[in-house]
Amino acid sequence: MTTYQTVNPATGEKGREFPTLNEAEVADVLTRSQSGYEAWRHTTLEERAEMLATTAALYEKRADELARIISTEMGKPITEALAEVEISTAIFQWYAVNGIGLLDEESLDVAGADESVVHKRPIGPLLGVMPWNFPYYQVARFAAPNLMLGNTILLKHASSCPQSASVIEEIFQQAGLPRDAYINIFASTDQVADIIADSRVQGVSLTGSEKAGASVAETAGRNLKKVVLELGGSDPFIVLDSDDMAATVSSATKGRLSNTGQACNGAKRFIVLADVYDDFVAKLVASFEAITPGDPLDAETVLGPLSSQTALDDLLKQVDTAVTDGATVLTGGKKIDGPGAFIEPTLLTDVTPDMAAYSEELFGPVAVVYKVASADEAVTLANSSAFGLSGSVWSADLERARDIADQLDVGMAFVNEHGTTLPGLPFGGVKRSGFGRELGSWGMDEFVNKKLVRVSAA
Ligand code: NAP
Repeated sequence: MTTYQTVNPATGEKGREFPTLNEAEVADVLTRSQSGYEAWRHTTLEERAEMLATTAALYEKRADELARIISTEMGKPITEALAEVEISTAIFQWYAVNGIGLLDEESLDVAGADESVVHKRPIGPLLGVMPWNFPYYQVARFAAPNLMLGNTILLKHASSCPQSASVIEEIFQQAGLPRDAYINIFASTDQVADIIADSRVQGVSLTGSEKAGASVAETAGRNLKKVVLELGGSDPFIVLDSDDMAATVSSATKGRLSNTGQACNGAKRFIVLADVYDDFVAKLVASFEAITPGDPLDAETVLGPLSSQTALDDLLKQVDTAVTDGATVLTGGKKIDGPGAFIEPTLLTDVTPDMAAYSEELFGPVAVVYKVASADEAVTLANSSAFGLSGSVWSADLERARDIADQLDVGMAFVNEHGTTLPGLPFGGVKRSGFGRELGSWGMDEFVNKKLVRVSAA
């Protein structure tokens, strides 16, 4: 049974519970989404772009209120919550400005006809299944390009963030989007499966765990529905050398600890060449030890609680298992006493391929550090993960770093930066990190009918 309720992870305080849909309501939202599509698909591109621009303006105007909601819902430090609202605003604005151009028709070689053109057309109602870790940003990545295209959306958000889910819908309506073009649904897992199976729904996009992705993809496959999956990651952060180790370590700390370590594309594995290893590790330990988790609503806080008590228990179990299996704790590893789902920032080493910690995603402020003898060994280790979301290479020698970045089996490779996301850049992974891309032109290329129209004289 799915319960939609906020539980503040910094205090354990429970918020309002939101009822899940009943059977009749599921039937109703499906009907509404289809009839909404028949109307929305016939609006002009200019009308859709204007609605997205208004949505962006409302996010900007309500930024403080929106940031506060997610800080109390999932514990995101308030400065990061404001940054999330800002990038979400930028995504709506980007599609408002660029969306019309991305839908231009493409004229082909007529090849014997009078006219041969590819149009980009919507396909119908879509289902989005979204996670709690970036409540606004994840929805913006999916909703902005698809609303611009003319698709309609049923959005099932994580059960732990019903307030942000509700306010997203409210803002769309405030921005003038027809009520049935975007419908927030408090649905159970079984209802999600029924919705995917319904003939009116044309596709599903899930951001979340491998388990949820596999379940949704299985239902989608059985019902021949297009699916996009944005799943987990265990991103490598490869240090080849450094002219400024303090700066590299500062980026490593941010790469691992931002969003309290609960980012799919967090730097989860530090892979460091032997000659700089000791320096890197000493500085990284000091950097982690200088950070104390605190109240997410305090602007000084850089590390909040984990999203829930369950998330904390799961992560502590993973750390304990790693230690039992032979890993060494360089720093941290313990729960912080008191209320709230707080854990010390943690660094592990001596993790070997036979241990669970080698292959599992550690979703919190816990990283594993590996020492390697060569850049080739770094690439082999990086690519030994079943995930392939993103990875970064750090070096003063850009040629060498570019070459290593090119060898990573990931959807996004960076040199001397980690985890950059911007509205115009593609986001997505390979291997068990999922398939499909969001953002930029790529985000408009998933749930689209690239429709050929050839016209020949009678
Ligand atoms: P999760 O448990 O998979 O939940 C994500 C969403 O899927 C929630 O709305 C959840 O609903 C729903 N869900 C769970 N099981 C389902 C099922 N069997 N059928 C249908 N829906 C189901 O993931 P999470 O723990 O919240 O999120 C963390 C994961 O997301 C991490 O692995 C992270 O790396 C990944 N992530 C990936 C990206 C990316 O872009 N690649 C971005 C962010 C996060 P309930 O809340 O009701 O269970």
